[in-house]
Amino acid sequence: MNLSEDVTPLTRPAAEALIDAAVDAGEMAPGVALELAASIRVPGVLDALADGAFASKQRLKGDIITVSRNVFLPLTNLCRNRCTYCSFAKLPDSAEAHTYSLEEVEEVIQGGVATGCTEALMCLGDKPEVAYGSHREWLAERGYRTTIDLVLEACKLAVAGGMLPHTNAGILSREEMESLRPWNASMGLMMETTSERLRGKGMAHFHAPDKDPAVRIRMHEEAGELRIPFTSGLLLGIGENDAERVATLMTIRDIHRRHGHIQEVIVQPFHPKPDTPMRAVAPIRDDEVVAWVALARLILGPEMNVQAPPNLAPRMLERLARSGLNDWGGVSPVTVDFINPEAPWPALRRLKELTRDSGQVLKDRGPVYPDWLLERPEFFDPTLKKHLLRLATDEGYARRPHHQSKEEAA
Ligand code: SF4
Repeated sequence: MNLSEDVTPLTRPAAEALIDAAVDAGEMAPGVALELAASIRVPGVLDALADGAFASKQRLKGDIITVSRNVFLPLTNLCRNRCTYCSFAKLPDSAEAHTYSLEEVEEVIQGGVATGCTEALMCLGDKPEVAYGSHREWLAERGYRTTIDLVLEACKLAVAGGMLPHTNAGILSREEMESLRPWNASMGLMMETTSERLRGKGMAHFHAPDKDPAVRIRMHEEAGELRIPFTSGLLLGIGENDAERVATLMTIRDIHRRHGHIQEVIVQPFHPKPDTPMRAVAPIRDDEVVAWVALARLILGPEMNVQAPPNLAPRMLERLARSGLNDWGGVSPVTVDFINPEAPWPALRRLKELTRDSGQVLKDRGPVYPDWLLERPEFFDPTLKKHLLRLATDEGYARRPHHQSKEEAA
């Protein structure tokens, strides 16, 4: 089917029949997803979509929702791209531009260990050394050829300090991923969108060569060939249409079918930032977030880990909890969300309560999901696996032997 935008909304009974069929089949065809996306304002369809996605999630994930207690290490906020929605990246002459020293990394790791975190999220701008001479000099003064050399050292420090790295450093070469693999529990790159259209003049990715869909697809494929547990995701609200959202999810599904390495898929709404060219764009509606979490579940099937960050749709958490997700992602008691600093993390206690109120149970995981850790040995370097197991319970969830927060003690 041609994924055009010209789709007639379904009646509620027709939508319910398609949703039931998708739950039974464990997958959904792209044309059906597009018809359902066009129907979410038809009374009753959004509820049916969420209910179907929740039923699909329950089949293989049961009543568990996971969360990863992490620290966020934005190793550098310099980036060679200029996505028009981004407030994370800074120019080198900005007072806010910052690249972490290893001493700073160590300090954050210590804070993470002291507060019972297991995941060290290395998240940074894309290849800033390509664009900025001052950054090349900064790296050379410290003996690094590229920013990835710094990332590698930071990952080694994290492992030595008792945490487990998950690196999202933008586009990496096969060799770079190979060098990082023994020091990373998992790695990631949001697909964001496979829309070529958004690379056009005036669009969100015009000045962002690393957002070329072909480049992102290639990195996903290579991560699969290298057996790296990988996080991908869909970014909502940057100018893409429903057909492009469906196409992005289908691309992720197809790559996973070839390699079996996509550990989780994030459905992330974009928040317009005041100091960016896209500041006046209307934020995506909460019911659309619910709809796309549900559609992601039904397209990707009951086995996939589907995540929605709880700080980006705070008014909808109760609803989101029963819309097909099985993971809240990383939540930090130590660091802010540097990509969305305006959006505070919910307290873990509140997340636990609202998950319980939804009839489910919140469990702590590390950067590797329990079944991956216990059942997929081919994805892990043997030395790293010892660290992973040391920080895991017998069931594969996060083990935090030295720490009990006040909220947990209460
Ligand atoms: S969104 Fe990522 S790639 Fe784009 S400018 Fe920001 S840091 Fe760079």
